[in-house]
Amino acid sequence: MDQHSKTREKNPLLTSSGLPPFHLIQPGHVVPAVTQVIGEIEGKVESLEAHLEPTWDGLLEPLEKLDLPLEYAWNPVVHLLNVRNSEALRKAHETMLGNVVALGLRLRQSEPIYQGMKALRQSDLWNRLSNAQRRVVELKLRNGEHAGVGLTGEAKNRFIQMEREISQISTDFSNHVLDATKAFELIITEEEDAKGWPESLRNLAAQSFNQARRDTDVKATPERGPWRITLDHPSFVPFMQHSRRRDQREKVYRAFITRASEGNLDNTEIIQRMLRLRKEKAELLGFGSYAEFSLASKMAPSVTAVETMFQELQRASSPHAFKDLQDLKRLARRQGQTEPIAHWDLPFWAERLREKRFDYTEDQLRPYFPLPRVLRGLFSLCQKLFGILIEPADGEAPVWHADVRYFRVLDQDGKRVASFYLDPYSRPQEKRGGAWMDNCLVRRRLDHEIRLPVVHLCCNSTPPVGEKPSLMSFSEVNTLFHEFGHGLQGVLTTVDLADVAGVNGIEWDAVELASQFMENWCYHKPTLIGMTKHVDSGEPLPDDLFQKVLAARTYRSGSLMMRQLELGMIDMELHHSYTPAGPESPFDLHRRISMQMSPLPPLPEDRFLCAFSHIFGGGYAAGYYSYKWAEVLSADAFAAFEEIGLENESAIAKLGRRFRETVLAPGGSRHPMDVFKDFRGREPSTEPLLRHNGLVAPSGSDE
Ligand code: ZN
Repeated sequence: MDQHSKTREKNPLLTSSGLPPFHLIQPGHVVPAVTQVIGEIEGKVESLEAHLEPTWDGLLEPLEKLDLPLEYAWNPVVHLLNVRNSEALRKAHETMLGNVVALGLRLRQSEPIYQGMKALRQSDLWNRLSNAQRRVVELKLRNGEHAGVGLTGEAKNRFIQMEREISQISTDFSNHVLDATKAFELIITEEEDAKGWPESLRNLAAQSFNQARRDTDVKATPERGPWRITLDHPSFVPFMQHSRRRDQREKVYRAFITRASEGNLDNTEIIQRMLRLRKEKAELLGFGSYAEFSLASKMAPSVTAVETMFQELQRASSPHAFKDLQDLKRLARRQGQTEPIAHWDLPFWAERLREKRFDYTEDQLRPYFPLPRVLRGLFSLCQKLFGILIEPADGEAPVWHADVRYFRVLDQDGKRVASFYLDPYSRPQEKRGGAWMDNCLVRRRLDHEIRLPVVHLCCNSTPPVGEKPSLMSFSEVNTLFHEFGHGLQGVLTTVDLADVAGVNGIEWDAVELASQFMENWCYHKPTLIGMTKHVDSGEPLPDDLFQKVLAARTYRSGSLMMRQLELGMIDMELHHSYTPAGPESPFDLHRRISMQMSPLPPLPEDRFLCAFSHIFGGGYAAGYYSYKWAEVLSADAFAAFEEIGLENESAIAKLGRRFRETVLAPGGSRHPMDVFKDFRGREPSTEPLLRHNGLVAPSGSDE
């Protein structure tokens, strides 16, 4: 036995069939396995570059196969990092991450591969490829071009130089925001000042004090303080909602909107520089603006299309946002506030009004939502809509934790089409927060056989306590439905090309279509009531509670909508029509748009842009609009079901199958606009989203 096959036998990351053996993977396996796999792939790339034929079989087929070993050697590492984090695993991941990223870039920027694909597109063979095959080539060409593969000489050097600087200042931007956020604290020592705070804020703020003041003798308790308030969201948001000290709210608010705007953490220069570099980069690649460059890889067809969406949503939402403000003003006045309402009053009075209108708490709902019951409801909805059967298959697959479940998905005829893992509960010591869906094994053709897809669904729901099952909050139920929607796209795909199977290859302003579509069912009365059963009494959710949940869905929706639109507009204009280093500063632009959008004008010293990490430190540049874009799509898709009557079982089943065939099955193998039009018969409309948000006609005051 040679050395290679020996390590292969011992290292569980060096498999290439079956499920990843999660139970056997140790941090020590990572570096040797990934190093070996990357070395082998690099060798194959070199030989492919030297001998490729501009045909599917001579170029794309070998490319498709290249990443299979990485699917087994690297994806499980990323997954375990999310669900079973440890110091050793983090180190191993960090050691190899650079090499994995470099390999991806190496492939995207390969001149011979790029030229080969271009030749294929121009040849007679092109018309003989399937739609999915053509889409794979189109996406690869686009990714390559956006990574500068089409550039030569001076332009190429400049491009590489700019990419490096953009990546550097983007990291600087985020670090400044993090450091500026960390630099602020408000210590509260008077018990009187913590009056009215919820339990969770008291706990968090006392814990925060103890962590920050480890070296003092003072030990904070949730009941007596001292409490430490910071600008991190879990501290900032509830403090603004519940602190009765108006002056302290003002202080915290002012600190929040001026983060990273002065001293050595000032992001002002970075913003200017970033906008200039992005504009130059887009122009170098042949685009009129950075926004046009960004949209070239998205579903939204043009900047104008995005602006039209903004305007339609704004027109309908604006009167509601103004009315929301009037409601808060009136409430504040009645409750004795004599000063005119200010930004630091809004969250506070909005919470008081919420308490007045919807007197229920998340905890009140929990006993009605035991996880097993919710899963049953979800699975039977999927059976009704898509004709699939979901069965437990625990024990069939290796798992990374005893709480992890495994399920099989069967088609009508009993044939298995996919499987999925569900890792439902929060485990703060080792699992990251939030919820997500990820591919475990993507559907693909392997030596004339189809390998069925397997997906990961990870949530952070409340774990079971004692004998009782996990009791979910309504928002945890929503999250489960959301991730399950992503999962459906992964498991019900019929595409055999890994690059465009399931969620792979879907433009990211369209990728939330299926997930948010599923969320809508949580507000459909029979579906929701059907998955409730009080853990003690066995009763379903009472009608009055359901009505409150329904009403809370649209609470202040006009104000929320206007805020999201405002951010989207600022982002789009900065990356489209704005001239860096022109007469208008980015802050002037922010102010100009906010004056149109916000019922309460921003403070002149507002420097929110200096902390707008989504667009200056993350991937949302000229893409912030996609939150709304995806909501429009999913609401409109759900509206198709409403139009035929949600109680019309046979029509719903028929339409559900159509959704499965037109949206879930093709995944990323078609342009999302074509996918949407196939299902809906027309382009997306903003009307259903406005209707679901209660924003069609202004309602009377009821406060
Ligand atoms: Zn999502």
